[in-house]
Amino acid sequence: MKSKLVIGNWKMNKSFEEAEDLISDIQDKLESWSLQTAVVICPPFPYLELATDHADESDFEVGAQNCSEFENGAFTGEVSASMLAELDVNFCIVGHSERRKYFHESNDTIAKKIDQLMKQNLIPVFCCGELLEERKSGNHLEIVEKQITESLFHLSKEHFEQVVIAYEPVWAIGTGETATPEQAQEMHYFIRSLIEKKFGTETAYNCYILYGGSCNAKNALELLSQPDVDGGLIGGASLKSDEFISIIEAAETVLKED
Ligand code: PEP
Repeated sequence: MKSKLVIGNWKMNKSFEEAEDLISDIQDKLESWSLQTAVVICPPFPYLELATDHADESDFEVGAQNCSEFENGAFTGEVSASMLAELDVNFCIVGHSERRKYFHESNDTIAKKIDQLMKQNLIPVFCCGELLEERKSGNHLEIVEKQITESLFHLSKEHFEQVVIAYEPVWAIGTGETATPEQAQEMHYFIRSLIEKKFGTETAYNCYILYGGSCNAKNALELLSQPDVDGGLIGGASLKSDEFISIIEAAETVLKED
């Protein structure tokens, strides 16, 4: 079995001091462990350097939560993929439902961001997922297929193999409502089949498909035990070190049981 991947998305939370405490706590807890699970934390931009400094001496990696679709230039407020690369950031979340909703990011914009990340050899964590009404009307598979096709399937096989996919049903993000393990497995299996059709079996097997949406210490073990769930993208539960570590523990348990 391939190893698991657990990514913490802090969103726009924590003061500098709180960020420092949380990173140190995570670092201390990971230190005493010989981990098989890969761990990534994605703090807000101003704390990235703090995080990469700690990551140098620890067993986690650092991701950003967004990047510009443009390479450089007069785009006030934007942060380019090359700036992230210079900070030794390795991952970048793109297409999160909060960015789709509040900043009107389209599948096409997200595709451009992914292209920028590819140029810098950064790993995109591409988020996809349906709205509640789309699930209720039975269109969830179709919606996710469209998101994946329009934002990822222009990539070469070689570039696609750098991408991590996070399935995040929008109705489960920050709501306390989680997809059932069966719903998660159904969608993850579907996503893997799409990849298999486009890029072949090996690429599909190797692709990391994470689940995100109110994943926490209590439900992580069941979700991460699903055969096509390769890890988690964790929002609220990544803001407390004990809770985040418990999710990593769940990933380790699944790996050991296999
Ligand atoms: C997220 O924002 O990516 C997320 C999964 O949030 P939460 O875990 O809080 O639902």
